[in-house]
Order: sequence, then C-alpha cells, then structure tokens
Amino acid sequence: MTYGNEASLFDSLDGHRPGPQVTADGVTVREVSCKTLLNRCGIGDYSFNCYVGCMHGCGYCYARYMQRFHPHAEEWGRFVDVKVNAAVVLARQIRRLPPGDVFACSACDGWQPLEAHYRLTRECCRLLLAAGFHVDILTKSRLVLRDLDILAGRDVRVGVTITTPDERWAAIWEPAAASVAERLDVLRQAKASGLATAVMFGPLLPEISDTDAALARLFSLAADVGVDKIWTDTLNPRPRVWPSVQEVLRRYRPDLLEHYRRVLFDRDCRRAYRQELDRRVHEAAAVSGVSDRLG
Ligand code: SF4
Repeated sequence: MTYGNEASLFDSLDGHRPGPQVTADGVTVREVSCKTLLNRCGIGDYSFNCYVGCMHGCGYCYARYMQRFHPHAEEWGRFVDVKVNAAVVLARQIRRLPPGDVFACSACDGWQPLEAHYRLTRECCRLLLAAGFHVDILTKSRLVLRDLDILAGRDVRVGVTITTPDERWAAIWEPAAASVAERLDVLRQAKASGLATAVMFGPLLPEISDTDAALARLFSLAADVGVDKIWTDTLNPRPRVWPSVQEVLRRYRPDLLEHYRRVLFDRDCRRAYRQELDRRVHEAAAVSGVSDRLG
C-alpha cells in the first residue's frame, strides 16, 4: 500500500539533486543541511521540523513567518527545503537532552508529500521514541498511516487538524492536504492501533467554520470517532497571514472581507468574538457529549 504520490512527485527530478529541483506539481525542492533539529517549544518541551516550507499551502498558514528567517523567492506552499541530515543531527542531540514531550511538527506538516520519498519525519520519530521521548503528532496527511508500524505501542498521540467539516471549503483553504474524510480515517486507524488520538479544530474561520451548524458537525464527528482530546483555535493575525486570507476571501467570499478585518484587527470586536465563540464551542461540545475532552 502506498500513501503518497512518490513516483509522480519526482517524475521531473533527476537522480542527483545538487541544486534546486522542481516537482511535477511545480514545488521547488532544495536539499539543505541543518545544525540542530530539536528546538525548545512552547507547545511541548520540544519540536522539530525536517522541512522548511510546506507543500500543503494552506491559505491561513501561520508558518509563513518562517520566510522572515528563510527568505525564498517562491510563494508559501511552492518551496520546500529538505534537511537531509535531520536524523543524524537529531541522534546527536538526543544523546545530550533529557527526554520530554515533542511536538511534530511546529512549522511544517511533517507528513507532507515529500516525506513519502525522504522518510525523515518517520526516522526522527523512531529515534525519539526509542530514546524515551513522547511524540505528539499533528498532521493533515494520511501519509502518517505509513508509520503506524513504528508508532503503535509507543508513547505517541496522533492528531489531525480539521478546519472545516465542508470538503469543498477544505479543498479551497488547504489545497494539497488530505480530505476531511481521510483525516478522520487517520484518527480511526490510529485508534484501532491502540494509540491516543487528538483533533485540532482550527483555525475556525468566521462565518465559514465557526457557525453553529459547522461546530455541531465538527463535534459530532469527534464524538463518532471517539477522539481522546479536542482543541480549538481561532484565526489569528499572525505575520503574513492576512494577505493570503484576503486572497482566498476575495475569490470565494468577498462579502466576508470586512467582517474578517474587524475580527482580526479591531481589538474590542476581536475580544467579543472570541468570548462568544468560546461559549458556542463549549455548547457544541456539550451537545455531542465530549466536553470532558476539550483541551
Ligand atoms: S499543513 Fe500546516 S504547516 Fe502546512 S501549510 Fe497547512 S497549516 Fe501550514
């Protein structure tokens, strides 16, 4: 069974890749070296990213801030730097670091399509688990199912992000990620393998996935799957996010532009919006009987 389009991904790449190469999908790939891989992180104790850039190219992606530190001529979603020495560097680092919780991954999707070829995130997870670290996975890719063989029976939680229950909106905001149905299947299969599971509903998009109907659907899906932990997140005005969100709205829902501007940039409006959303999130969770799983 294959989980990625590995062959088609590299149809246009030659066997040796000394310089930038372009995938069949038009993503520029550069092989680079890193000096460190595991970083201290606010979400867990550590996080790691084997890739700079993410082929999923989500319209609201916060990881765009990476371009401040790693400037690229290509737009977000159209480049990936591959840290080909990631596993070697990680093995060296974990010999000196105390075990802790590791978030995979904080600035890219570790299971984005290139991972089918490079297998770096897989190897890093294997090393971390063998060294006694706990790994918390968050992905929008079904490729993570490839790695159930090394994850099952270990100290791992498999989580997926779901922004909207509507497949059409998911395809618009997250053009290269797995479908919502596939992400739910990841949770089901992880659960069937005995692993703890989690779902991040976020960022909840005003008037698109934060409506009462959408919240009811999201929490009912979480209840159906029997997911162990549920987080929610609001859309945040992080650097470089707004231009990309505007682009999507201009194309598909120009009537919402002003509403988004207020929710994101008017402090009072934002505070009121978040309080109200929090109330409705708890209500929807209660109706589906999963309040105790809200993180
Ligand atoms: S999957 Fe995550 S890291 Fe990748 S583009 Fe989407 S939001 Fe950004």
